[in-house]
Amino acid sequence: MKMIIIKKKIIYALAAALIVVSCSTGINLFTDNDEVHLGSQFDQEIKNNPKEYPIYKNSAVKNYIDTRIFQHLLQSPEIKKKTVYNYQLEMIDNDSVLNAFAVPGGYVYLYTGLVKYLETEAALAGVLGHEIAHVERRHATQRITSAYGLQMIASLALGNNPSEVSIMVANLFSGLALLANSRSDEDESDEYSIKYLAETRYYPGAVKFFFEKLKDDGKVSSASGGIQTFLSTHPDPVERISTTNTRISNMGYPVKDYKASGEGIFREEYKTNILSKMK
Ligand SMILES: [Zn+2]
Repeated sequence: MKMIIIKKKIIYALAAALIVVSCSTGINLFTDNDEVHLGSQFDQEIKNNPKEYPIYKNSAVKNYIDTRIFQHLLQSPEIKKKTVYNYQLEMIDNDSVLNAFAVPGGYVYLYTGLVKYLETEAALAGVLGHEIAHVERRHATQRITSAYGLQMIASLALGNNPSEVSIMVANLFSGLALLANSRSDEDESDEYSIKYLAETRYYPGAVKFFFEKLKDDGKVSSASGGIQTFLSTHPDPVERISTTNTRISNMGYPVKDYKASGEGIFREEYKTNILSKMK
């Protein structure tokens, strides 16, 4: 009995120390395999809940976005875990939601509302690059580690039923609470979107095009309609426009806005192959 108490004390002290470290250095208790496993569970939950997540059935549009934009982005040498994670794109049929999200292991989801709102392939590539960055940088499991590290370590070290850990993680997934990104995660994902796109056919700063259009439409301060979901998971759109402009200038690229056409934008292609087929 005494042995167990001592063991517990040591484990809790270790765990507490780890949590302090994890908050400052981004330690992550999950392996890459865990990421893929968690992601596939989450993907299953989404597919099993067609009421909340109706899968978009227009395969011509989905295949175009997948092969032409998503797969093209994944070829960027800056995306390091393309062979480790199970990258795949899914579209959710809900025109009232202007949002996209990703879960661990490479599963990226796009709402039809966002696709219809955007105007260029570059803008969509910017959003997809941002979501890929959440996966590559392991933001979700880092947050789980920070929030639940102590319990997870204690639970595992004490040899408790491993299903307790699974339940803990499953609870985090419910209600998509997991997807509420922190400001620093958002900023890092914007930064990496630029890096990824710089190695593709798309204008590197396109991650901000969506925010620029929202701003022009007076939607960044409104808490109505589809934008509410977006703002709750993606804070500070206006600040992110200026941060992106600074990064783009520092890298020596011209600053273009969401109304731009020409090199790296692909406005006509978006209209012909995506927008006109989604009516
Ligand atoms: Zn984000």
